[in-house]
Amino acid sequence: MDLRPGADSCYKCTSCDTSCPVAEVDDSFPGPKFQGPEQWRLKRKEDTEIDDSITGCSNCMRCDGACPSDVPLSQMHNTARGEYVDNQMTKLSREYLRNRILANYGTLAGIGSKVPRLTNAIMGNSLVQKLNERVLGITAERDFPEFADQTFRSWWKQRGGPNVESDEKRIAYFHGDYANYNTVEVAKALVRVYEAFGYEILVPDQRCSGTPMFANGMLDDARRSAAVNVESLGDAIEQGYDVVASCTSCSMALRQEYPELFDFEGTETVAANTYDALEYLLINENVIDPLSEVDAADHDIPDFAYHAPCHSRNQGLDRQAVELFRHLDGVDVADVGDSCSGISGTYGWKEEKYEYSMEIGEEMFEHMEHAAGETGMTECPTCSMQMEHGTGYEIDHPLQVLEAALVDTDVEI
Ligand code: SF4
Ligand code: SF4
Repeated sequence: MDLRPGADSCYKCTSCDTSCPVAEVDDSFPGPKFQGPEQWRLKRKEDTEIDDSITGCSNCMRCDGACPSDVPLSQMHNTARGEYVDNQMTKLSREYLRNRILANYGTLAGIGSKVPRLTNAIMGNSLVQKLNERVLGITAERDFPEFADQTFRSWWKQRGGPNVESDEKRIAYFHGDYANYNTVEVAKALVRVYEAFGYEILVPDQRCSGTPMFANGMLDDARRSAAVNVESLGDAIEQGYDVVASCTSCSMALRQEYPELFDFEGTETVAANTYDALEYLLINENVIDPLSEVDAADHDIPDFAYHAPCHSRNQGLDRQAVELFRHLDGVDVADVGDSCSGISGTYGWKEEKYEYSMEIGEEMFEHMEHAAGETGMTECPTCSMQMEHGTGYEIDHPLQVLEAALVDTDVEI
């Protein structure tokens, strides 16, 4: 893909560089202006040489939102990273193998989740974690996420699919890998909340959204996943369903990265009909009135320290949870600020990036500890891991809070 013309829009204001959390902590990382417009401006058409610092970008996409001139920074980064991995990275190197494993989490999770208790016992063993670090370069500082006893898709099948039928209110749920294999309670909360509002839910065939693949330059893997997703979600849209995702990085991939990087038939249609789960509900339903009827103290709903993921900021969704839960009586939801959590999907799992990841997250940890609530809230599963890792708090998804307030109570919707 030739992105050189986009580089001409850059007038070197450096807003992107000052917004970059990695450049702030890692002196060896030259920042988004260099990774984007400067490298592309210097590229000749057939030139494939990419500076290896492109692998230091965490793909948080904060620079995209900071650019006043609409330079397609993350598209430039993703494309350059893909070219670097294809043409310059040694395929038998430890870094390549590690990144490929992290990028394809869903494939390994599909195997591990067949025997979840055994997998949890093995992956939770400190000797295995140390071996992972030594052999693969996956940090031993983090606890591997536990697999649920039953995947969401298996639960959904066993349940017999939707409990609600509707011709007007229909959503196709993009759960992604993490809510399918690990935080199944988030996916179940989505089902219960949406069904309470009268929606018929379809759980279409799907693969990983591609977010960890983009971040690691595995564009061929991402393309294969995207092809399945665009076809399957495109079919659902044709049948009258809107696509709803519970992870803001998944909705980001379907809305922005797919159209920037792929040209499958239907890509633009999927992008135009995809929403974040809370966003969609707030656009289409009166959530505030029933929520205002609930007294949180009667239902053990705690105060929260809320972190808006970088990928929700990019979609303009960073204030929606805080503003919504102001209407929930007896609950304090503190926004812990606009800093990056630091984990950025797979970035904080890399041994050599772990300390940077924690340094980036420090501001968020401090603000969480100063907030009244001792439970965290966020829409992103890896931000959730980082919040828990840095503070020891339990972390909920806004859908779980809605489930506790609107479904587990007898409030009329
Ligand atoms: S995506 Fe994030 S880490 Fe990468 S250059 Fe932009 S701001 Fe920096
Ligand atoms: S923010 Fe945009 S215009 Fe400013 S230096 Fe970065 S790419 Fe160039």
